[in-house]
Amino acid sequence: MTYEHLKDFCISRNIDIRFNEPMSIHTSLKIGGPADIALFPNESSISELIKTLTKEGIPYIVIGGGTNILIKDSGIGGAVIFTSRINGITQNTEYRTQDADTECIFVQSGCLLQKVINLCIEHGLSGMEGLAGIPGSVGGAIAGNAGSFGYEIKDVIKSVNLVMPDGSIKNLSSSDIGFQYRSSNITSGAIILSTILCLRRDEPFKIKKRFVEFINEKKSRQPVSKLSAGCVFKNPKDIAAGKLIADAGCKGMRFGDIEVSTMHANFFINRGKGTADDFLKLMDIVSKKVKDKFGIVLEPEIKVLGR
Ligand SMILES: Cc1cc2nc3c(=O)[nH]c(=O)nc-3n(C[C@H](O)[C@H](O)[C@H](O)COP(=O)(O)OP(=O)(O)OC[C@H]3O[C@@H](n4cnc5c(N)ncnc54)[C@H](O)[C@@H]3O)c2cc1C
Repeated sequence: MTYEHLKDFCISRNIDIRFNEPMSIHTSLKIGGPADIALFPNESSISELIKTLTKEGIPYIVIGGGTNILIKDSGIGGAVIFTSRINGITQNTEYRTQDADTECIFVQSGCLLQKVINLCIEHGLSGMEGLAGIPGSVGGAIAGNAGSFGYEIKDVIKSVNLVMPDGSIKNLSSSDIGFQYRSSNITSGAIILSTILCLRRDEPFKIKKRFVEFINEKKSRQPVSKLSAGCVFKNPKDIAAGKLIADAGCKGMRFGDIEVSTMHANFFINRGKGTADDFLKLMDIVSKKVKDKFGIVLEPEIKVLGR
């Protein structure tokens, strides 16, 4: 299949298709070269699209909010699937449980995590307020088991629907997803389509109070208004990566236009003209400093994608 044929296929299915799409406009770091193809399917077209890409041997990756990725300056070969148009939330009796204290909601993967949290507050559903202020989509949060303040998204997940590379839909229960600290075993090629989240009933004003406390705490500790991709490295056991980086003397260190945040050393900031190359070099320098000083090898939390 040529790209022209793929374009015809997409137009006939009402799928927005773009060629040579700059990825810098789709990432929170505002970094990333062009993707050969960018695809914006909706719920009814995604299965057939994935099946077609697989059949035609066109490689693809999936992106939600682009808030935990570094895309290389050389861009992405093949296709990028965006989930932003698969973003519904359903709260109805079909998903109710026998337990009067809990309620389940159905959420599609491209829905913004903060939109779900707002709905939960409004309807008195507790369990997600610790994820306050984490940007990005529900799919991205599940893929990386996002968390903070002792909360992790895995704790509220009942099941997940995936689109498999052959276009089939697979349902996994939470225990099959292999959640660990900032990771899951959802393999590349499988796309999270939707999830059922189960939450505990509580008074909306109590949930809101906790939410506001978490947001304020986050704003006081993290450079949330700057261009970043969140924490660059995972925390090694029993110690914060940010503390190791700060104690290795790296706070404020710069390479090109990328800077180790002076507020939280595990956040690297794009000061405007930063590149992926600069970012990767700074990661190398910081890792080496931490290894030399503490003998600890830091593992990246952000996903580096691209050719
Ligand atoms: C200011 C700031 C603060 C942050 N604070 C936190 C925090 O407190 N805790 C925390 O855990 N994270 C934090 N992050 C990181 C990030 O926001 C989260 O990891 C978020 O859940 C990523 O979601 P996303 O949709 O942006 O994922 P993306 O960046 O789009 O993708 C991340 C990974 O998930 C995969 N993915 C995305 N969608 C799907 C899907 N539908 N199916 C399969 N795979 C998928 C991608 O392929 C990629 O490998 C922060 C980031 C920023 C910028």
